[in-house]
Amino acid sequence: MDFAIEDSPEQEAFRKEVKDWLQENIPPGIEHSVDPKDMTYEQYQIRRELGRRLGKKGWLYPTMPTQYGGADLPAEKTIILYDEIAKTGLALPPYYDAGGRMAAPTILVWGTEEHKNRFLPPICRGEVRTWQLLTEPGAGSDLAGIKTTAVRDGDAYVVNGQKVYVGSSHGADYSWAIVVTDPKGQRHKNLSWLMIPMNLPGITVVPMDLLATGGEGGSGSGVKNSVFFDNVRVPVEYLVGGENNGWKVATTHLEAEHGGMGRLADRRVIYEFIDYCKERRDGAAIIDDPAARAELVDLYIESEITRLFALRNHWLSHTGQPRSYEGSQYSLRRKLSGLDISEKMLRIAGPQVLTKDERCGPLKGMVEYFVRDAITSLHPGATTDIQRVIIARRMGVGRAEREQAGALR
Ligand SMILES: Cc1cc2nc3c(=O)[nH]c(=O)nc-3n(C[C@H](O)[C@H](O)[C@H](O)COP(=O)(O)OP(=O)(O)OC[C@H]3O[C@@H](n4cnc5c(N)ncnc54)[C@H](O)[C@@H]3O)c2cc1C
Repeated sequence: MDFAIEDSPEQEAFRKEVKDWLQENIPPGIEHSVDPKDMTYEQYQIRRELGRRLGKKGWLYPTMPTQYGGADLPAEKTIILYDEIAKTGLALPPYYDAGGRMAAPTILVWGTEEHKNRFLPPICRGEVRTWQLLTEPGAGSDLAGIKTTAVRDGDAYVVNGQKVYVGSSHGADYSWAIVVTDPKGQRHKNLSWLMIPMNLPGITVVPMDLLATGGEGGSGSGVKNSVFFDNVRVPVEYLVGGENNGWKVATTHLEAEHGGMGRLADRRVIYEFIDYCKERRDGAAIIDDPAARAELVDLYIESEITRLFALRNHWLSHTGQPRSYEGSQYSLRRKLSGLDISEKMLRIAGPQVLTKDERCGPLKGMVEYFVRDAITSLHPGATTDIQRVIIARRMGVGRAEREQAGALR
């Protein structure tokens, strides 16, 4: 029996179109830094240029409707596009952008036609990039406990407060935030969801230099930031989903963040690590050892299972199938398997793979970054504990009534 998965003639033609387009359009001079915090401003700008070119084609956020700047690609063509971009060492989008990955699906579900026309085309065309501003010094897992206020004053909301652990290197054009619009209101019914232009007076961004991360399926985020709001006037038309309805709006982007739409991540480090183990140095290779071979197979299977969970979620969401705990299940699995693969790599190849020694070949620094990222990745987008709580509630174990998954379209 042959289990090989082959492209249909239509898929094959699309794969060729993508390959040819990438060859012509990836700007020259792209360097692949292992750690996103090392990405220079020039390298970031080259990626933005690629983002704009992809955006023109509708391929930056390919599943978004064409009328808002996407390409309305079906699930299997999107996978081909992600696959081919991953082969070039890049990801979709090629830089951190919480706007396209999480805010755009949210605006599509909760925005008015005016919101969609205002916000979606610039995001999909790569003209703006966006951060997500949720966490505060006193509210992480307990997101509904945030304190940043947005008080209505005429034609604006006046925002005051602080967000932490947010964004990426090199700034953002917009941020979307959860804010308290009814300070005396009932928990969960006192919040709203605002798009905030980052050039408004009263916004201060302070990098958290000691916290540099990756994530985002290979597109990297770099340095995290604190954002301070001091009497920032945000026009009322930038409120999405209705006043005091922000918790419901948040269920959509949280679902996207947890992986409800799948995250077709870059697995270069897995392939490079396997090649490194096969390589002969001074006549010997790591795979000469049967125990190392067995563990390498386990490592590959581990990463493959996570990939298949992502593909399943991608298919479920893009074909409109019923969903429940799958987003959190994928997130939990991805976080735990990152740690497991890290430990396996160190057991198989020894601690020297953490160094940038010449003998580590193209792996130089990659494993060290992978291990560090696996640890910091336990927190963003809800911790492993919180993912377990969500799974339990959606299975009907944690609550009398089953919790529903956030709407994605
Ligand atoms: C690398 C990185 C990137 C990030 N990026 C962003 C971003 O772009 N935007 C943004 O808004 N935020 C971002 N965050 C913040 C992230 O969302 C929070 O760190 C996360 O929600 C956890 O909140 P906390 O750190 O305050 O931990 P806490 O909520 O204080 O949790 C501390 C510990 O208690 C456990 N715990 C808490 N509540 C429960 C419970 N009910 N049941 C069981 N265990 C519980 C947690 O699992 C954790 O182990 C980022 C964080 C990191 C580390």
